[in-house]
Amino acid sequence: MIEDAAQAIGAAVDGRPACSVGTAGCLSFFPSKNLGAFGDGGMVLTGDEDFAAALRMIKNHGSEQRYRHSRVGINGRLDALQAAVLRVKLRRLDGWMRRRQENARYYDQELAGLVRTPPVRDGYLHVYNQYSILTDRRDRLAGHLKERGVPSVVYYPVPLHLQPAFAGLGYGRGDFPVSERASERILSLPVFPELTEQEREAVARGVRSFFG
Ligand SMILES: *Cc1c(COP(=O)(O)O)cnc(C)c1O
Repeated sequence: MIEDAAQAIGAAVDGRPACSVGTAGCLSFFPSKNLGAFGDGGMVLTGDEDFAAALRMIKNHGSEQRYRHSRVGINGRLDALQAAVLRVKLRRLDGWMRRRQENARYYDQELAGLVRTPPVRDGYLHVYNQYSILTDRRDRLAGHLKERGVPSVVYYPVPLHLQPAFAGLGYGRGDFPVSERASERILSLPVFPELTEQEREAVARGVRSFFG
């Protein structure tokens, strides 16, 4: 099993951190992630020595020894400049994570009963790369927020099985009703660590005023 932990650095289930559940876990350092570089970057974590050796080879054009290619690889090295940025930002990750969790707790309280707030089961540590609510009146709510200068985003409007890239698999509307319903009802609110108290109050007021 390979975990897609792109949004989940720092998250955990019953004390087990993301990336420690499967054979390997993948982190993204795309700028919008909780630990973001100044450009693209990522990391694979694994406890399997052989798998790690294979990955090191693959990310370096399939080469273990210079100019000898044991397998077909890619150029998947983390750029040194991005690594320098990430090393500095890593020290602040815990603080940023706590800010995201505080913002989420605030929205949980302010929006309870109006929209479906993100459920967090016992033992789960959520790091809120996104704070996504569900509501049947999603598009009208997004329009209302926009009029009030409150940004919101739909992650993600088109489920995988309806993407042109996967049309060849032969799935259509109705085949994954839960994904389809979620993609029609989901809306993400600003939850980033630098959000001020006044800003998050304005977000909550915007949602509350929509529902009267
Ligand atoms: C951002 C993201 C990716 C892609 O990460 P890249 O660094 O752009 O390759 C994959 N999966 C999830 C869940 C993501 O949020």
